Amino acid sequence: MNPLDALLQADRRHLMHPGTHAHDHASGELTGRVMRRAAGIRIEDHAGRTYIDGFAGLYCVNIGYGREEMAEAIAAQTRELSFYHTYAGFSNGPAVELSRRLIEDWSPPGMRKVYYGMSGSDANDTQIKLIRYYQNVLGRPRKKKLIARQRSYHGSGVATGSLTGQPKFHAAFDLPLPQILHTACPDFYRDGRDGESEAGFVARCVAELEQLIDREGADTIAAFFGEPVMGSGGLLPPPAGYWPAIQAVLRRHDILFVADEVVCGFGRLGSRTGCAHYGIAPDLISVAKGLTSGYLPLSGVIVGERVWDVIARGSREQGAMSHGWTYSGHPVCAAAALTNLDIIEREQLVGNAATVGTYLQAQLHAAFDDHPLVGNVRGVGLLAALELMADKGARQGFAAPGKVSARVAQAALRHGLILRSLGMHDIVGFAPPLIVSKADVDEIVAITHRAVDEVAGDRD
Ligand code: PLP
Repeated sequence: MNPLDALLQADRRHLMHPGTHAHDHASGELTGRVMRRAAGIRIEDHAGRTYIDGFAGLYCVNIGYGREEMAEAIAAQTRELSFYHTYAGFSNGPAVELSRRLIEDWSPPGMRKVYYGMSGSDANDTQIKLIRYYQNVLGRPRKKKLIARQRSYHGSGVATGSLTGQPKFHAAFDLPLPQILHTACPDFYRDGRDGESEAGFVARCVAELEQLIDREGADTIAAFFGEPVMGSGGLLPPPAGYWPAIQAVLRRHDILFVADEVVCGFGRLGSRTGCAHYGIAPDLISVAKGLTSGYLPLSGVIVGERVWDVIARGSREQGAMSHGWTYSGHPVCAAAALTNLDIIEREQLVGNAATVGTYLQAQLHAAFDDHPLVGNVRGVGLLAALELMADKGARQGFAAPGKVSARVAQAALRHGLILRSLGMHDIVGFAPPLIVSKADVDEIVAITHRAVDEVAGDRD
């Protein structure tokens, strides 16, 4: 057996993959693909085929792959201090410096402290615990319910999978947990009514949130979770005026706002944060992915003044908070994050995401606005989507969603480009590394065009 076949066979036998059809993978019906090495925006598999990574891993490899500077920073910190915990006041230089930079340079005003984890899911899990703690210290034991939005993604743990507003993350796992509510997804393209203006649609989303709060009682609702731009639920930029209107409702009812910046943070939208992009003033922020560009796992919960003051007061009454992970503030992960931020700042990758992002959006519109298979072209910065429709005139999607977009992603892969099919509807997603150039964008759009044409041709 050749080495690649042996690897694939061992993979089928022993490795359990996330988000993967268990039977089809184990039986070999699903073709496995073993990745071997990567540099810049390109990744090579074990068979020697090279692809442009049009989705930056899972929209996380912001600085691109294979940076020597990252390897050196990680190696140097491993030699110096490979690990020590941050419980009971112990600390380390990289975690301290990273916290300072996150608060001073990479957060909206009013943020105070950073608590570290390893993934976006555990960051949001920590958020839920901090929110409960906050309400308990304030003597509001009933004010504990959480609101997220239909189609949102906030992780796939027991609590965070409950926040996630996608039925497939609930059905087989007895989720959502009680006390977690979902309100409307702001998808104007799909859910706007005939003749309804964008402003009218926003008013309807806001009214639905108000009704939910009224029905449940504002004194039972603790916090609202929102991604500035919804990611895996469809790469949906909010309609104009959405975030100011939603925030006004939350403020009126004394409901905390948690900004889930796991995708939007660190330049993806062409701004330092999604909050800055949309004028969001959050109480708490979750970051991960672009914080280290995926070189090592690291997440952060950024805590605002208002919540921090209550936590500090709580500790005077209750002692040390019994919440923690062994690897919180891991020095090697923090060193990787610091070098990642150095690269983003030095190479002005946020500005590049804005400039090349504008170009990407324009090229996608030019190529696909009139394509019969593409109903909607949307995005912001280096985050973009094509929504495929069975009948774009009637805004009619496919009967079995996700299959046509998967075929487009497969066709693109055959032609050397990785895109992501988001199967809730037939959505093809783009989120290349922030180092991408206009010439790279031309290549990405050309390959996508070929893939979409092929799939459209098969339907005729
Ligand atoms: N929040 C958002 C917005 C995400 O997109 C993701 C993952 O894609 C998460 C949280 C969960 O992050 P992780 O997969 O690192 O647990």
